[in-house]
Amino acid sequence: MTAPISYWHDSLEPGDTLTPRPPLPGDRDADVAVVGAGFGGLWTAYYLLKADPTLRVVVLEAETAGFGASGRNGGWCVPETGSPLDVLDREGGAGTGAAMLRAMHGAVDEIGAVCAGEGIDCGFAKGGALWLASDARQLRRISRRHAMLVQHGLGDAYALLDPVKTVARVNATGMYGSIFTPHAAAVHPARLARGIARAVERMGGTIYEKTPARRIEGRRVVTASGTVSANVVVRTTEAYTASLEGHDRMIVPVENFMIATEPVPDHLWAEMGVANRELFEDSPVMLAYGQRTADGRIAWGGMGASYRMGSKIAPTPMQAPKIAALLRARLVERFPMLRDIKITHHWGGVMGMTRDMRSTVGYDPATGEAWAGGFGGAGVAPSNLAGRTVAALVTRADTDLVRFPWVNHRCGKWEPEPLRWIGVAGTFARLRMGERLSQLKN
Ligand SMILES: Cc1cc2nc3c(=O)[nH]c(=O)nc-3n(C[C@H](O)[C@H](O)[C@H](O)COP(=O)(O)OP(=O)(O)OC[C@H]3O[C@@H](n4cnc5c(N)ncnc54)[C@H](O)[C@@H]3O)c2cc1C
Repeated sequence: MTAPISYWHDSLEPGDTLTPRPPLPGDRDADVAVVGAGFGGLWTAYYLLKADPTLRVVVLEAETAGFGASGRNGGWCVPETGSPLDVLDREGGAGTGAAMLRAMHGAVDEIGAVCAGEGIDCGFAKGGALWLASDARQLRRISRRHAMLVQHGLGDAYALLDPVKTVARVNATGMYGSIFTPHAAAVHPARLARGIARAVERMGGTIYEKTPARRIEGRRVVTASGTVSANVVVRTTEAYTASLEGHDRMIVPVENFMIATEPVPDHLWAEMGVANRELFEDSPVMLAYGQRTADGRIAWGGMGASYRMGSKIAPTPMQAPKIAALLRARLVERFPMLRDIKITHHWGGVMGMTRDMRSTVGYDPATGEAWAGGFGGAGVAPSNLAGRTVAALVTRADTDLVRFPWVNHRCGKWEPEPLRWIGVAGTFARLRMGERLSQLKN
């Protein structure tokens, strides 16, 4: 039997069989064509239709909705600005970074509200998140991060917890402390993505699956089965962007991996804590992050970060048994009570990285080009704000959202190969090496 795309795809809402929707049947017109049915594209379609239910919104998806990172991730729905707060302040004026982070807190709540309103059963649980420090060096790192957040006026939203308060929430070994925020939720990402897709259809949008776009020519999206002509074309192809002709240097795909355990027995949960389904991250550079799933497993990911020459993407299901073994070992190191727990699923996905490592959204009315992406390893909540922002730009809504500095930010292009491979692979090798060296010094 072929392995499922991910644990999440193996535990969809009852009745969701992943059967693809019909592909684009031929040429057609639309007001807006969205390329890519991950969170970025689906939220954009959702908020466009909410703003104007008469819009003809068409979504073109190469595989099935939620096939990419959106269906495979760690389900960490956390506030992230996609650019350093200082940079946002410099570009948007003092206080912009904090305002954008608070808007991301709002995105977490907005996702919860949409799930409740649309009946999306993705186990949304707003139990907060902890960034754990398991040695003195990590404590210094998270303390610096916390001081920076306080300096930006965000001390009310992020607390530095001592070891006792940390293990009271998440009973991990060797704790030196943690940062805790209540503004974070655990979600089942594939159920969320596929639930938004169904909501988009209920609102009148059309999703064509198994319809890869070959290229975007101004206001036209060309596929093998027809061309969609639209006033606006939104590109939300993230790590797969190189699949579009002429777009191979915009965003690179970086691999990341996950494991899921069998259901953890209640007596072990009683030892481990995580009673509110708090998210938890082990904070070395090559981080690993986990959630207690709604059905009582642990989904735990990270430690991947490799790049293939030519922005190639390994076929799905993506498997990396060696990384799965490393992830399991790291999980048991942090939670020794899990020493006998079985891993039932391991899978991989690709995150999209821009040249300057920043997220971007935008719209150019002169050309009809719009986009959202470059979320890296943190796109679950940000893609919601991105979708709302693109919808506001396209419908010319007057909202503060369109004034954040990520709007129309151009990230620059990656180098041609092989320089691109040397640059990306070299960066991650340096990070890993730095991590090992500092562990030796610790
Ligand atoms: C293993 C892993 C773990 C992660 N963990 C987290 C986490 O816990 N929290 C968090 O915030 N973020 C996490 N991320 C990042 C997060 O998942 C992404 O930032 C987010 O899902 C990006 O959404 P997207 O819609 O931009 O891209 P995607 O979800 O990748 O969607 C792009 C879609 O476009 C389609 N497509 C591509 N090319 C074409 C084409 N030519 N024509 C038509 N369709 C096309 C693809 O099939 C895909 O469905 C993780 C990522 C990975 C890989």
